[in-house]
Amino acid sequence: MHSRKTRCPDCASGAFRGNGNCAKCDGTGINTNVSSIQPECPYCKGSGICGECQGTGLIGSDPEDTPFILTLFGPK
Ligand SMILES: [Zn+2]
Ligand SMILES: [Zn+2]
Repeated sequence: MHSRKTRCPDCASGAFRGNGNCAKCDGTGINTNVSSIQPECPYCKGSGICGECQGTGLIGSDPEDTPFILTLFGPK
């Protein structure tokens, strides 16, 4: 089964699947902007979890939702 989920572009690292870490703070949850008084990373609210994929490392719909062929040619 071919998965249509793709690597989350916002994750800190990962080749084919993101590691689920916030790229702004690399999963530490610490605000890397030293000029800010806010101690927590504003992008993940200090959780260290990538907000784009909720820490799953993948984005996109499940292959069961839409058959791959339909996304190419559309339903007739
Ligand atoms: Zn992500
Ligand atoms: Zn963060």
